[in-house]
Parts: sequence; C-alpha cells; structure tokens
Amino acid sequence: MKAIYPGTFDPITNGHLDILARARKIFGSVVVLVLDNPRKKTMFSTEERVSLIKDSVKGIDNISVEIYKGLLVHYADNLKDTVVIRGLRAVSDFEYEFQMALTNRKLSRSFEVLFLMTDMKYTYLSSSIVKEIAVLGGDISCMVPECVEKVLKERV
Ligand code: ADP
Repeated sequence: MKAIYPGTFDPITNGHLDILARARKIFGSVVVLVLDNPRKKTMFSTEERVSLIKDSVKGIDNISVEIYKGLLVHYADNLKDTVVIRGLRAVSDFEYEFQMALTNRKLSRSFEVLFLMTDMKYTYLSSSIVKEIAVLGGDISCMVPECVEKVLKERV
C-alpha cells in the first residue's frame, strides 16, 4: 500500500511532522502531497510550501514531496492501492473530515482514508495559529521547524 499525506501545509508545522513520522513508521514510506488549489488563499506559494517541507524532512529517508492540482480521487489511478493519511485534532476536525471522506468515497469506491490522532502536545497547533502568532511577533520556535520559523520571521 502506498501512503499519501495530502494537505495545504501553509506552512508545515511540528503537528504535520508528527503525523508524517508516524505514518512513515506504519507504511515504510510516505508521499506528501501539497495541494495546489488556486481558490485557497495561502501565505506561501506552492513551491515555497514544498521547499519548506523538503527542508524540514532533510535526512529522513522515504519521504517524498509532490505538488498536486485537482481532485484527490484522480491522483494515482483513482487511488487504487493507495491510502490517504489525515490527522485529527479536536472534534471540530471530525465534521469536515467526515464530509470529505464520504464525498471522496462517493467519487471513487477505492478511496480509503486513515486518520491518525494528533499527539497531545500538538492538539492546539495549526498553520493558521502559527501565522497569527508570527504576525503579532510571538515565539513560534516550539511549533514549527527552524526553517519555517526563519522564513516566517522574514515574511512578517
Ligand atoms: P488542509 O487544508 O487539507 O486541511 P492542512 O495543512 O491544514 O491542510 O492539514 C493537513 C492535514 O494535517 C489535515 O489532515 C490536518 O488535520 C492535519 N493536521 C494539521 N495540523 C495538525 C496537528 N497539529 N496535529 C495533527 N494533525 C494535524
């Protein structure tokens, strides 16, 4: 089974990295799929998001990063032999993920998604909260990899 971890990653956080490391432990390798959705307003361009992920996983084997434009179910032959990894934080994530999972299943019978529960210490963590704190000059060093902290500081 091939594991893919799709998301916006604007930017990647330690919460994402935790899910990624755990998925890699289960599946041996993981493809991080950076979704390029022009309707979603992001702080970082798709290429910047990819580059930050690559920097963050430097030295870790069997993790690759790809850009994907379009419907997830159209990736890799309707996702045959592929499992989609998603992270769950609070109950608030559940409703959205539930809707997405059922919609994707409707679009492709072979769609399979596996949810990994966040680590306790990352429950509160999201890309948006990190950007919010960075903009207001707060300390984000325990929330994101060093390369992200550096770029965010420059950006704001
Ligand atoms: P999307 O726009 O697809 O939700 P995100 O980059 O926000 O993209 O999130 C990608 C995936 O990572 C989602 O499944 C999300 O629930 C998960 N995720 C984000 N932050 C955390 C965290 N702190 N702990 C666990 N999972 C997380």
